[in-house]
Amino acid sequence: MALMVLKFGGTSVADSQRIRHICSLIARAYDGGNQVVVVLSAQGHTTDRLMDQALELNPNPSGRELDMLLTTGEQISISLAALCMEHMGYEAVSLTGWQAGIRTTDDYTQAQIQSVSPAAIKKELARGRIVFVAGFQGVDAWGNLTTLGRGGSDTTAVALAAALRADVCQIYTDVDGVYTADPRKDPTATKLEEISYEAMLDMAQHGAQVLHDRCVILARRHNIPIEVRSSFHDVPGTWVRNLVAQEHAS
Ligand code: ASP
Ligand code: MG
Repeated sequence: MALMVLKFGGTSVADSQRIRHICSLIARAYDGGNQVVVVLSAQGHTTDRLMDQALELNPNPSGRELDMLLTTGEQISISLAALCMEHMGYEAVSLTGWQAGIRTTDDYTQAQIQSVSPAAIKKELARGRIVFVAGFQGVDAWGNLTTLGRGGSDTTAVALAAALRADVCQIYTDVDGVYTADPRKDPTATKLEEISYEAMLDMAQHGAQVLHDRCVILARRHNIPIEVRSSFHDVPGTWVRNLVAQEHAS
């Protein structure tokens, strides 16, 4: 039995049909005899829309209130997915960042994860439940909700994989993996089978939207291999991992 952390991005949970589809992927992982923790992003464009609404009312919003608002997007996704899973006959539970034990600094809209206490998640897994966790969020020392910066759900997934000592960390998105260039803009881009943390970080910091840069830093620190793959096409993705150690080992 493996412990799997699966993360799905905004396009993968965009509507009810997509949620049903990812629930079938999650069911497959669970039916394989695995413990499954699922991190979700807000449904496509939700975070942008919330941000626009906030700025319409206050062009100079405080970070605390902005984070209170932005964290709702992921909460919608996890509860909808848990409801869908229930209907498919599976036991599922959804947890917000703070319920999942994710503590952060109080740098609102750009908070850093300080610690993860995965006791609640472990308890639910031990009950045989599929656990959905809201990505991109945590709680500071004063109990205020925080967010981890745009794209931060990837970081939530890797932080949980590290804290739970997960066997597998898969990040599902709307492309088949990591490409040499953005496949949506450059038709000559080719998919990589694997890429080092360093090269991935370089891409992330130069604007590639595939993975959040802090997620890659965290994965490198804890040596967690990540598979970036599509939730639309059932094909192997790209492994982001420590290629140096592999070369030395062989
Ligand atoms: N919903 C947040 C964003 O749009 C976090 C994420 O999707 O990872 O930036
Ligand atoms: Mg993303």
